[in-house]
Amino acid sequence: MRTKIEASWIVAFDEGDHKLIRDGVVVYEDNKILFVGKSFDGEVDDVINATGKLVCPGFIDTHVHSGHRASHRLITDTGRPMYYGQPFLEISVPKEGKVVSGDPRYLKHGDSESESAFRLNAIFTVAELLRNGVTTFIEYGSQLRVQEALLGEVERLGTRAYLGPGYDCGRWVGDKSGQLKRVRNDQLGLDGFNTALNWIKENNGTVEDRVRGILVPREVETCSLEVLKLTRDASNEFGFPMATHAAYSVIEFYEVVKEHMKTPIELLDDLDMLRPTLNIGHGNFISDNSNLNYSSHNDLKLMGESGASISHCPINIMRRGRKLDNWKKYEMAGVNISIGTDTYPRDMIMNMRNASYHGKVMGNSYFYASAGDVFRAATIGGAISVGRDDLGRLKPGAIADILIIDMTGRGTLRFGPVRDPIKSLVECGVGDDVQTVIVDGKTVMDNGVIPDVDLSKVAQEAQIAGEQVWNTHQDWDPLERTHVEACPWCYSMDDI
Ligand SMILES: [Zn+2]
Repeated sequence: MRTKIEASWIVAFDEGDHKLIRDGVVVYEDNKILFVGKSFDGEVDDVINATGKLVCPGFIDTHVHSGHRASHRLITDTGRPMYYGQPFLEISVPKEGKVVSGDPRYLKHGDSESESAFRLNAIFTVAELLRNGVTTFIEYGSQLRVQEALLGEVERLGTRAYLGPGYDCGRWVGDKSGQLKRVRNDQLGLDGFNTALNWIKENNGTVEDRVRGILVPREVETCSLEVLKLTRDASNEFGFPMATHAAYSVIEFYEVVKEHMKTPIELLDDLDMLRPTLNIGHGNFISDNSNLNYSSHNDLKLMGESGASISHCPINIMRRGRKLDNWKKYEMAGVNISIGTDTYPRDMIMNMRNASYHGKVMGNSYFYASAGDVFRAATIGGAISVGRDDLGRLKPGAIADILIIDMTGRGTLRFGPVRDPIKSLVECGVGDDVQTVIVDGKTVMDNGVIPDVDLSKVAQEAQIAGEQVWNTHQDWDPLERTHVEACPWCYSMDDI
């Protein structure tokens, strides 16, 4: 099956970078791109008319935590300063001896209704990503059953993912006074690693090669050196990419320095883990960051010299009052910057815009974090982080993961006049502007419709699940606060 897309704008790939083509064609045969250029005279079976539209490679979201993220709605504009802005410490650290309830990510095996809850989470995740033009996503270390559910939806809805159960040697809990405490269990980490490696070996390359495995020791401070070394050895032996939260929080930075007498990045370097296929989430709390007041500044150099990747999730970090200092410095050092959504909304276009503006503010220059830079990070940057040169680009031989983006604003004046399509997309676009998503040469979303997914039903079910999460907050919160006490309404709800 050979298909030709005729478009007003195309983001092609040539000589190592994206190029713009005005009034051109993209031809793909089965799951591979055959031709990208001004015109194609060969026979085709089908023609898609994308006049007035932008055709570009699908986005690669390098930092996804599965689910509807209802718990994250509880930290808008609030939180506990003792966590230095780190979201997961706010919403997934239960009182000692309790589990976070209401979210299937935290259900125990055999809990009632867990199957449907896992499925809802997976449908919500995959559908939201598709709706936002994400053709490849990397799940960042949720447990085995979350991966199983995602695998089912990736297969059913036709997208592409890097999956693998995450593992660690025990997580954080809150004691009776609400203080953080680490519960360490090294055997749990070893068991988790073995489970993950077996699952990855079994599922890597399945679903017509749309599912690949990734090793995710969840956080550098919650993993033993042994678990990190085993991860590295498995990556070396089997070629699986790796991802871990590192240099992502003040507490983690301090804990690692205290335990290992080196920074998280120095530790990863010592373990010989730094490489392009190590996705460091988020890599913003490095020794070079002046906020940490750390007197040697070697981390950026180590990351850059090794070409290590970061998953930069600008909405997530900026919403918590944190920063990447700064895009240009990372780029100049040689760090591979990719973009992740991490939390909600899973809108890569909005994340590109935030990355660009944040990069300009932090670098004090409008030349930095350009539209071209952030679009490259959202496509090629992601592909580099998983060692792929056939994703994130439209060139002959690459995989046919393609977006058609409507730049009319879909009935609004949001775009205004469009001159440079990537600059317009980054400045004026939103995820909903993605009209058509093609993955592996198959159209999996057309005109915003994903076959076999009723988006309004999914949204309704997510609302119900969200209310369960919020209404059970006091059951696990170390301070036994209700959701309203933890996260007050934006305005008074008193009767007037
Ligand atoms: Zn994360």
